[in-house]
Amino acid sequence: MKRRTVIALSSLLALVVAGYLIPEATVIPVGGAAASDWNPKSFWFEPWGKSGVHKGIDIFARQGRPVVATTGGIVLYQGSLDLGGHVVAVLGPKWRIHYYAHLAEPSDAPLFVARGERIGSVGTSGNAAGKPPHLHYAVLSVVPLPWRFSTATQGWKRMFFLDPGAVILGGL
Ligand SMILES: [Zn+2]
Repeated sequence: MKRRTVIALSSLLALVVAGYLIPEATVIPVGGAAASDWNPKSFWFEPWGKSGVHKGIDIFARQGRPVVATTGGIVLYQGSLDLGGHVVAVLGPKWRIHYYAHLAEPSDAPLFVARGERIGSVGTSGNAAGKPPHLHYAVLSVVPLPWRFSTATQGWKRMFFLDPGAVILGGL
């Protein structure tokens, strides 16, 4: 390999490792919510509408309750999607993207958010229309985790989607 390539690859590796060294402290992403406000079995539940399987958890709360960042990070995207409605995606420690959906109104979070910082409020936007208000919360690893591959429906996606409840409670 060329020396330049070696330098580029080792810098990339150092950057990836650095992401894993940032401590990942967490809070439940809905103000006032407890672990009993979501069903842990709803992660990878099927059948689940257009998505086939449910790649997150739904944290039920009253309309307008604050949605807060589970961990600190960089806001990669905030906008509106067909299924998600008003959404925010935050890149946090360990190269994980935290996805918050069905917010009551468009978010205008700053570029950097701290753990527990408000990024929106609970609502029913997107395909949650007509359902009880809840935060759809998903956690995606940017780095594929091959040992999580499973034979479940869409099991290859398990290399990317982590169980959000376990992430919140510090088990992942
Ligand atoms: Zn959901």
